[in-house]
Amino acid sequence: MNSFRETIERLEKEHRLQKNEYAMLLSPELPEKDADMLRARARALTDRHFGNKVYIRGLVEVTNVCRNNCYYCGLRRDNRSLHRYTLSPEIIEQCCRRGYAAGFRTFVLQGGENPAFSRDVVVETVRKILSSCPDSAVTLSLGEWDDASYAAFKEAGASRYLLRHETYNPDHYSRLHPEDMSLSNRLRCLDTLKRLGYQTGTGIMVGSPFQTIDDITEDLLYIERLQPEMIGIGPFIPNSATPFAPFAAGSVDFTTRLISILRLMRPSANIPSTTALATVSPGGRNAGLLAGANVVMPNLSPRDLRKDYSLYDNKAATGAEAAEGIALLAKEIAEIGLEISKEKGDYEHKL
Ligand code: SF4
Repeated sequence: MNSFRETIERLEKEHRLQKNEYAMLLSPELPEKDADMLRARARALTDRHFGNKVYIRGLVEVTNVCRNNCYYCGLRRDNRSLHRYTLSPEIIEQCCRRGYAAGFRTFVLQGGENPAFSRDVVVETVRKILSSCPDSAVTLSLGEWDDASYAAFKEAGASRYLLRHETYNPDHYSRLHPEDMSLSNRLRCLDTLKRLGYQTGTGIMVGSPFQTIDDITEDLLYIERLQPEMIGIGPFIPNSATPFAPFAAGSVDFTTRLISILRLMRPSANIPSTTALATVSPGGRNAGLLAGANVVMPNLSPRDLRKDYSLYDNKAATGAEAAEGIALLAKEIAEIGLEISKEKGDYEHKL
C-alpha cells in the first residue's frame, strides 16, 4: 500500500484530511491507478447513499441582468453585446409547471444580481411556484443579499440556496472580481444561509485563472468546515466577451478528481455533474457522475432565451442538457448503469 492509497482510505473513513494530504491527492504526481481508485471509491460511496439514482433539478435562468462585473462571467455588467432579459414571476411559474408535468420536483432559479428582481419579486415568485407545484423544492441561486432578504425567501418557502464562494484565498478572489466585491461578504452570506437552515450549496470553478493547488486545498478545508449540503464545481470556461477570454478552460479530469475528493469528504451531499462539464467534453456529464456526482440540472428556461444566458462560451442547453431532452438524458446515463430519479431529493445526513 502506498501513501496515496492510505490517504484516500483515510478520507473515505474520516471524511477529513490535513492540508498537505489534500495537496497530495491534487498533485500531478498522483499515479493513474490511484486516481482510478479514488474515483471508484467515490462512486461506490455514492451508490451506498443514493443507489443508482441521479436526481434531476429543473434549472430556470430567471434573469441575465447583473450589477456585478466578475472578470470571468459573460453576464457581467460591462458586457454590452448581450441581449438582456428578466422573466416575470408568471413566466417563471409557467416554466416550473411545464417541468412539474414532466416529473420535476425541484426547481433552481438562477440569475444575476438584478436590482429589478427585488426581494418582493423573489418572494412572490417562490410562493407562486410552490402553490402551483406542490411537494416541490425551490432552490435559489441569486447571489448576495442582506440577511433579512435571505430570511424572507426562506419564509416564502425556498429551502435551498446555491452560492459558490469561488475561492477562499482573498488574493485570488481579488484577481477574479473587481474591487467593489468582497470575499468577506460572500462568506457572510454563506454563514447566514447555514444559520437560517437552508440546504446550502457552495463551490468553485476548477482551473480558473491564477488558481493554484494551494488555493484549492484552502477551498477544501473551508468546505470541510462549512459542511454544505450541496457542492457545485465545474471547470472554468472562458467567455469571449470578458477579460478572461484568453485563458484556457479547466480540465474534465481534474474537475472529476475534485468531485471524487468532495464525495469522500461529504458522503450525503448533493453534488451536480455540472453543465460546464458537459460543455467542455461530450462525455463530461457522465464522467462527473462516475466520479461521484448524483445530480443533473436540465434547462427549463424558455428556449428562445437560453442563448442569452451565456455565462461562458458554447454553454450546453439543448439535447440531453435540456428538460425537453429528458428521454435522451435517461438513455445516456443508462449507459453507465444509472437512472433518473424524479424525487425531491432533499439532503439527508448519513455517514
Ligand atoms: S458571476 Fe454572478 S455576480 Fe458575477 S457577473 Fe456573473 S452573474 Fe453577476
